[in-house]
Amino acid sequence: MAVSKACKKCKHIIEKGTVCPVCQNTDLTTNWKGFAIIIDPENSEIAKKLEITVAGKYALRLSK
Ligand SMILES: [Zn+2]
Repeated sequence: MAVSKACKKCKHIIEKGTVCPVCQNTDLTTNWKGFAIIIDPENSEIAKKLEITVAGKYALRLSK
């Protein structure tokens, strides 16, 4: 599995590029574990829990 980067700020997983498309953050990490795919943030319990408002793939945990 290729190593994707996750945004340290909103946990969005970035498949390519070096800028988070959700929050424009450039502070990314490859040290993340598990992910959730949010299709409908407004009706997703996971999205609410993770405070996600934009559909996409998100890391569940970031390592330091
Ligand atoms: Zn972000």
